Amino acid sequence: MKELTDLLAQLVEIDSVNPSLVPGGAGELAIARFVAGWLEKAGLETTIEEIAPGRFNVIAIARGQGQDGGKSRSLLLNAHLDTVGTGNMQNPLKAEISGGRLYGRGALDTKGGLAAYMLAAAQAKKLNLPGDIILAAVADEEFASLGTEALVARWQADAALVAEPTNLEIVSTHKGFVWIEIETFGLAAHGSRPQAGVDAIAKMGKVLVEIEKLGGKLALKPPHPLLGTPSIHASLITGGQEWSTYPDRCHLSVERRTLPGETDAIVKAEIAGIIAGLSEADPDFKASYKLTFSREPLEVDPRSPILQSIVAQSNLLTGAANVVGFSGWTDAALLNAANIPALVFGPKGEGLHGAIEWVDLESVEKCCEVVLAIAIDFCV
Ligand SMILES: [Zn+2]
Repeated sequence: MKELTDLLAQLVEIDSVNPSLVPGGAGELAIARFVAGWLEKAGLETTIEEIAPGRFNVIAIARGQGQDGGKSRSLLLNAHLDTVGTGNMQNPLKAEISGGRLYGRGALDTKGGLAAYMLAAAQAKKLNLPGDIILAAVADEEFASLGTEALVARWQADAALVAEPTNLEIVSTHKGFVWIEIETFGLAAHGSRPQAGVDAIAKMGKVLVEIEKLGGKLALKPPHPLLGTPSIHASLITGGQEWSTYPDRCHLSVERRTLPGETDAIVKAEIAGIIAGLSEADPDFKASYKLTFSREPLEVDPRSPILQSIVAQSNLLTGAANVVGFSGWTDAALLNAANIPALVFGPKGEGLHGAIEWVDLESVEKCCEVVLAIAIDFCV
């Protein structure tokens, strides 16, 4: 317990604010050096990879002894090194311990899980398991997931665990998202001359009405058993030049949260349908749209060996194995899309991205125990 708490405290005390979120943020180099040094001392083969200028992943392997033609299964343990900014936290890097909790930026998101996974990998190394344990401490999860994107381009494994906080529940599925930009085009004219102008903002109003209607329809779809229904909402809107002018442009950003099975093509067809319908009904309605970014949902097959293993080991060690859905998006989806079935499993706490962030130390220890048990059970 003390070893794990000390390790976690050291991780929290190293500033690793994501520099893409907070200009001048410390980034991952200092924490990557610490993590690599610790894992090397534990006997793992460790490298630091610069995956983008100034951004670093740590890869550490507890090499399996079963070099039997690659038949033994390998397990990838993924946790991110970066944190969000410290905002108006008091002592964000102090790692204060009180009442069984450790406080500080990143304690929960996701240094608690990282510490648990590191110690589990170190213990697995001592056991000389047949299969490889690959610990990947990655950069940039909080912004663009550069770390895990680089990871899946270079590494493979038979399954993965991702250390986001889950209250020791097992996340086997979560939503994805698609970002869409819509622009309506009007005609600029003096505000006193309605016959000469077309109001692009009012035209966007029609789009907003349809977006809300679509949201209503999505909410009536048969719900996914763990994720509920998909959704769509407006995010940002801009338009117009000045008070006395018909606006010639209006720009809307929209987000569609997707369920497993819902693709970019489906979302594109929904938006195309809205634009086509409005164009048909109103000859002055002119708009364009594009999908600018998307992330796939996650869904791991219940029969997959990693899910069966985590359920069995959680039952043994915690007396419960709750398989749940998660509404947000995680790096697990990138691993899963790269043919590495990935589950999210991490400790308990509160204050993710908030002013007071803490992790429950007992749950960090339990997380470590379960992950080690999975390694033993799975890497055969
Ligand atoms: Zn996180």
